[in-house]
Amino acid sequence: MTAARRAHLETVTVITWTWDIVVFLAGMAETARVQALIAAGRRFYGRSWVLATSGNFSMVSSVSPLRLLITQSGVHKGTLTAGQFLTIDASGRVAGRRKARPSAEAQLHVEIVQARGAGAVLHTHSVWSTVLSERHAAAGGIAIQSLEMLKGLDGVTTHTHREWVPIVENDQDMIRLRGVVGHLLRDYPSIHGFLLRGHGLYTWGRTLADAERHVETLEFLFQVIGERHEPDPHS
Ligand SMILES: [Zn+2]
Repeated sequence: MTAARRAHLETVTVITWTWDIVVFLAGMAETARVQALIAAGRRFYGRSWVLATSGNFSMVSSVSPLRLLITQSGVHKGTLTAGQFLTIDASGRVAGRRKARPSAEAQLHVEIVQARGAGAVLHTHSVWSTVLSERHAAAGGIAIQSLEMLKGLDGVTTHTHREWVPIVENDQDMIRLRGVVGHLLRDYPSIHGFLLRGHGLYTWGRTLADAERHVETLEFLFQVIGERHEPDPHS
């Protein structure tokens, strides 16, 4: 990333911060954030959504300048410790005292926080998100409708809601993938999450509790769709 690009990212204004997020952020100590993310890791590992060292979690720790608390690269999410978190800035670089490597996908967390004004971003690698991201790749996403559990998504009040979960082609070039995700979030302003093909789920929330509820809701919905054995619409 060029210095100019980094400078631009540092100055991008997060336009959708709302008062409840600011209050939420200000009222939570760093140790509380770490403990909440450790607990989420244990729970998600127990559901097989973050096996081995897969997945990564982040929470906003400062709005201005933007700082995210994020899991270190290559650590097991079921046995996270307080020493396995880092602070990164808007360019995805380490901003705190610890110099260990952030997760490779830190770029996506920053992009989602800036585009959505999220307070937390969660990334999981479940079996069903992986299966469906392949099965529905040709359609570009998965349409989910007429299921009561849709009401677990922020702002959804009826089972008739139609949720579109876009599928993005996986990419090991995180700067390039960050650009793709940025366009996606602008093109679909009302989505609650997206899938990386053959890889896993990204979702977010105003608070960590909201983001965790979105993981639980979407993983439930993915399993329902997967177990219905619906044929691939493009096969
Ligand atoms: Zn991943």
